[in-house]
Amino acid sequence: MTRAGHLAAAAALLLVFPASAVLPTAPARAAATNAAPRAALTNAPVSWTEVKAEELDQRGLLPTGKRLLEEEGDKWKHAQTAHFAMHFAASEGTNFAWKVAVQSEFFYRYISQELGGAQDRYPYHSHIFTFRNETRWKKFLKTQPDVSKWSYSFAQGLCMFLQQAETTKKQSDVLAHEMTHLMVNHFIEGRPPLWLNEGVAEYYGEFGLSEFRGLKRHPGSVFKSGGLREAMTLERLFAIAKYPGDEKEVHKLYATSKYFVGFLMVKKPREKFPGFLADVAGGMAEVAALQKHYDFPDLATVQKEFTRFYR
Ligand SMILES: [Zn+2]
Repeated sequence: MTRAGHLAAAAALLLVFPASAVLPTAPARAAATNAAPRAALTNAPVSWTEVKAEELDQRGLLPTGKRLLEEEGDKWKHAQTAHFAMHFAASEGTNFAWKVAVQSEFFYRYISQELGGAQDRYPYHSHIFTFRNETRWKKFLKTQPDVSKWSYSFAQGLCMFLQQAETTKKQSDVLAHEMTHLMVNHFIEGRPPLWLNEGVAEYYGEFGLSEFRGLKRHPGSVFKSGGLREAMTLERLFAIAKYPGDEKEVHKLYATSKYFVGFLMVKKPREKFPGFLADVAGGMAEVAALQKHYDFPDLATVQKEFTRFYR
C-alpha cells in the first residue's frame, strides 16, 4: 500500500494465491553477479499483443479480477506482454495501459536482479486492471470494503488494480511502490512482515523508479545522518502486525522501515539483503536473521548502530 492507501487496507496485502498456484520451493538463489547488464535492464523492448478474454493467461487471476471481467466483460480490452496481462476499458484507449506495462516489465527485471537473480515462483502473467475514469474506479472500490476509499492502487497476490493519478509523478510513485509488492509476491516465498514489506516497497520503489528514468543514485546519498527525524524503535517496528490507526504512527512506520532497509543497504554488504529478506519472509525472527546475515550479536547493538546512522 502507499502511505495514502494503508488504512484499513491490510487485507488487500494478503498474499492470497489460488491453491493451484502453489509451486514447489524455488531453487536456491543465484549470486548477484549473474545480474544482467544495466543497459539490458533499462532498454529491453516490450511486446504488446492485444488478445481476447478467452485467450488470456488466467492462472494468476484472483476472484476480484474474475468478477470484474465477468460483470463488465464487454467493456474491457486486453493485451499481454511477457509477464503482464493488461486490462483497460475500450473507451479509455491503450496509451495509459501501455505505459504502465512498460514500467511494469522494467520493474519485473529490476526486482529480479536486485534480489540476486531470484526465480519467479509463479511464472505466469500478473493481471493489471487500469482505470482512467474516476467514477469507474470509485464504483469498483465500493466493492472492496477492505481498501480505503482514497486509494489509487492496490496489489492482491499477482493482481494489481490501478487508477490513473492526477499527476505523472504521483502516478509513477504509486505504481513503483505497488509494483514492488507485486514482484515480492512473485519472487519471495512466504510473507514478509508488515514493516519489511512496506520498507522494501518504499526502497525499491524509489530506486527502481530512478533507474527506470535513467538516473543513477547511490543509496548513500539518500540515507544519511539527520535524514530520519521521527523513528520508531526497532523493537516496536518488528512487533507491528497491522497498520496503526494513528496517521502519525503510520508515517513513522513507513519512514523507519524504509530507513532501516536503507541502513542495511548502505552500511552492510548489499548482496546479503536478498537472503535476509527470504529468511524473514519465511518466518525467521528478525533478530535471528540479523544475527545470521549481518553478524549482529543482539537487537540492542542493531538499534545503537541504526540510531547512530540516522541521527
Ligand atoms: Zn505498500
